[in-house]
Amino acid sequence: MDAKKLLEESSQYLMNTYNRFPIVLRKGRGMKVWSSDGKEYLDFVGGIAVNCLGHCHPKVVVAIQKQAQRLIHVSNYYHIEPQIKLAKLLVENSFADKAFFCNSGAEANEAAIKLARRYFREHVGVNRFEIITAINSFHGRTIATLSATGQAKFKAGFEPLVPGFKHVDFDDIDAVDRAITKETCAVLMEPIQGEGGVKIPDPDYLRDLREVCDRHGILLILDEVQTGMGRTGKLFAYEHFGIKPDIVTLAKGLGGGVPIGAMLATDKVASGFQPGTHASTFGGNPLVCAAAVVTLEVLIEDGFILDQCRRMGKYFKKRLEEMKKEFPSVIADVRGMGLLIGMELIRDGAPIVKTCMDRGLLINCTAGNILRFMPPLIVTEKEIDHLIDVLEQTLDHI
Ligand SMILES: *Cc1c(COP(=O)(O)O)cnc(C)c1O
Repeated sequence: MDAKKLLEESSQYLMNTYNRFPIVLRKGRGMKVWSSDGKEYLDFVGGIAVNCLGHCHPKVVVAIQKQAQRLIHVSNYYHIEPQIKLAKLLVENSFADKAFFCNSGAEANEAAIKLARRYFREHVGVNRFEIITAINSFHGRTIATLSATGQAKFKAGFEPLVPGFKHVDFDDIDAVDRAITKETCAVLMEPIQGEGGVKIPDPDYLRDLREVCDRHGILLILDEVQTGMGRTGKLFAYEHFGIKPDIVTLAKGLGGGVPIGAMLATDKVASGFQPGTHASTFGGNPLVCAAAVVTLEVLIEDGFILDQCRRMGKYFKKRLEEMKKEFPSVIADVRGMGLLIGMELIRDGAPIVKTCMDRGLLINCTAGNILRFMPPLIVTEKEIDHLIDVLEQTLDHI
């Protein structure tokens, strides 16, 4: 079917929830994707930090093929081999003792919200339910995670929201301290605000958060849906800060492209759940777990990809900082960790994204004026150089 017909049918049959660009992506390999009319694009969006190993990584493809032939789905009433393997890998490579699997970032955060409340009632025996989150945060689109999210634009028209969330300024430790009451059970934070514009807190912020949570006897939940799975140059962003959280939520990069979410927790906190308290029909099914196992194995194998991510992140930031000097009236700031990089513009970013797309380069703009780069962690210097060339040409004519 030709592209024009596909676009017509797309708007005829799909709900109008996305402002989609007028191309149909049909094929991908590594850093590249191709549209239905055969045009090639270099992909620095990576499915919003999902395609950590690039498109159609051969090991992920083979793992999915093999698992699809063996067993696609069975109920969680039975033990599932790839799910056990994935949980073991995650536990062995993190602070956590236990994993729970679901299908998305929002669901992982839902699980965390439920576990935090339940832990206090079951394990501690007190009714603590309130969760403190940050202004400008993003935690998902379900009604509870939307309530947790600290951005009014996502909530408009969906009231009444779920009670029990309090929002404080990001990167302000005193604000968290002041907001905690006898009813507070947890603080829920992104280590770096992704959707909110690649906002990086003070290097001490997470350690201070840990200390404040310990002092008040409440849980520290880190939403690593975007920052996890190697994105910042370590498997989990919390590792940069020398702390251990109580709960971490994951999704995006976890399955190398397949839909899977996870909540990790310590044994102590995980004891808040017993059989029947929480569940997901598809959560951790054989097919997605097989893909996630091989993705995680490739990510941690010899530390090669994480090392590459740190080196390329540094190089990428350096090139963008040079560009900032060249275009001081357009670029306000460059910031990032690993390969989660933001470039704050003094103008609206949408026209730049569009021009780059016409020139075969996919980039993302968030929070109106922040260009956000989340390429696969396998990106090379040559590909970064190409992005810089295209971006410079674009800014030259703006
Ligand atoms: C994307 C994202 C979510 C939501 O994930 P979904 O899979 O879209 O539900 C939650 N938290 C953070 C930090 C995210 O970046």
